[in-house]
Amino acid sequence: MTDPAASGHEAPLSTLEIHLDRIAWNYLFLKKRLSAGTDCSAVVKADAYGLGADKVAPALHRQGCRHFFVGNADEGVALRQVLPDADSSIYILNGPWGATAGDFAHHRLVPVLNSYADVQFWMAAVAGKAPSPVVLHIDTGMNRLGFSAADVAAMKNDAAAWQALDVRYVMSHLACADDPPHRKNQEQLDRFRDLTQALGRPLRFSLANSAGILLGSKYHYDLVRPGCALYGINPLSFSDHNNFQGAVTLRARIVQVRDLAPADTVGYGATYTTKSRAKAATISVGYADGYLRSLSDRGYVFIHGVKCPVIGRVSMDLITADVSQVTRPVQPGDWAEIIGTHQPVDSVARQAGTIGYEILTALGTRYKKEYTGV
Ligand SMILES: *Cc1c(COP(=O)(O)O)cnc(C)c1O
Repeated sequence: MTDPAASGHEAPLSTLEIHLDRIAWNYLFLKKRLSAGTDCSAVVKADAYGLGADKVAPALHRQGCRHFFVGNADEGVALRQVLPDADSSIYILNGPWGATAGDFAHHRLVPVLNSYADVQFWMAAVAGKAPSPVVLHIDTGMNRLGFSAADVAAMKNDAAAWQALDVRYVMSHLACADDPPHRKNQEQLDRFRDLTQALGRPLRFSLANSAGILLGSKYHYDLVRPGCALYGINPLSFSDHNNFQGAVTLRARIVQVRDLAPADTVGYGATYTTKSRAKAATISVGYADGYLRSLSDRGYVFIHGVKCPVIGRVSMDLITADVSQVTRPVQPGDWAEIIGTHQPVDSVARQAGTIGYEILTALGTRYKKEYTGV
């Protein structure tokens, strides 16, 4: 009888390491590509793409980042509490929703106004206050958020709006920057130039996300807005070469190892049938942890450095992998690498039929989170 403590049962079942030093490295890699007049913000919406904005944003602040984009006002309020200075700008991409104008002012949150209707609403909300800081978002072809051409014309002629609002930036968003030869990139650039010129004022501009930065300096303007690249996702989704360092290592432990006979089935629905004798390891990660169910019979994990296919369906807390090819002994308590040096997040995304963004933002809350390289 082995001592359960000695066998490591008390150690965590899964660990999510978040490498703050690599996120910082990715930030500086992007920054080096910018000319002196261009500021580099960080997009930390959705809790810094699932990695923890409370740790990621201060780490980027230490690298000199002073501009942060989040999705909504709640994220902005939370971010304001963890930034060490009062001067860093926090922009709210989805606009002036979910909090009062007083809350925006109190937490010094800058709403992105996504239409001329937003401008009129915000002017009423901040009436009588000192010029209110805002970002104006112009649509240049994505057709998701942003001023239409008619909105731009209305804004141009609204002297009261220009007086009431302190327009920090005029921004737009690229739809196809992950595909550099796509003609939509140049079309959006041209449209951005035309519509911003139509405003007829000296202003500052922001267009590029991570992939947009890699399109070259004419896309950079005054402020760039990288997200995915900071977290190690390849912004060039059609390329196998990734300049950026993976920001997470996700490991889960094997909780059981079993021998399978030929024609045994594995898991719910009996979707997998063995052709010959095999060895299977049951691993403590499942769809409740963001290991997507679409990885059933399609995903891979690495055990002792060997690539092992997921066999059978992903269940809520567990997956099963075929470890027959692993020559070293495989035992309960051993680790399986889910995301890491053998298998970056983009590989897991490809196996699941999705993008790295969805893999990171789906990561669940049961992992023991460890921040390294602080
Ligand atoms: C999410 C987002 C970004 C960041 O995009 P990445 O592709 O992750 O670099 C930039 N700008 C806007 C408006 C966004 O919504």
